[in-house]
Amino acid sequence: MSVWNSTHSFFRIPSIFLISYIHYKPQFGGPNLKILVSFDIDGCLETGDPPGPITLDMVRKAQSSGCIIGSCSDRALSSQRRMWDDNNIVYDFVSPKYALGDVMKQFEADKYIHTGDRDMDEMFAKKAGFDFYWEKEGAEEPWLAMLEESKD
Ligand SMILES: [Mg+2]
Repeated sequence: MSVWNSTHSFFRIPSIFLISYIHYKPQFGGPNLKILVSFDIDGCLETGDPPGPITLDMVRKAQSSGCIIGSCSDRALSSQRRMWDDNNIVYDFVSPKYALGDVMKQFEADKYIHTGDRDMDEMFAKKAGFDFYWEKEGAEEPWLAMLEESKD
């Protein structure tokens, strides 16, 4: 990195390129609000063991409304991927419970939400700076109301 901090102007990066770089992150979401929603699987999604109250149609609707979606579960990443693939949902991410912070670094959003059914979900979500919703609250699709409210 030291080369970029060089005092020789030859090495300085024109700020327009820096700005372009900063914005070269995946851009998703509605016109006024980008929301990332992370779903726990077991006890949360209908495909979980035990099944939870959040249906895959709710997930599809969140995605078609512009949300960045994926799962964050104790399940192996391969198992999470299979769950999405088996249901023909093109997820944006899969993550272990403890790695929500990495998900946040990967995607630029205005709001980061995790839904889950355990105290551990809440703990990891808050630690990573996510808003936490219990599975039943998630089943009310609060992100849709947020997107609606963000419209001009
Ligand atoms: Mg769970």
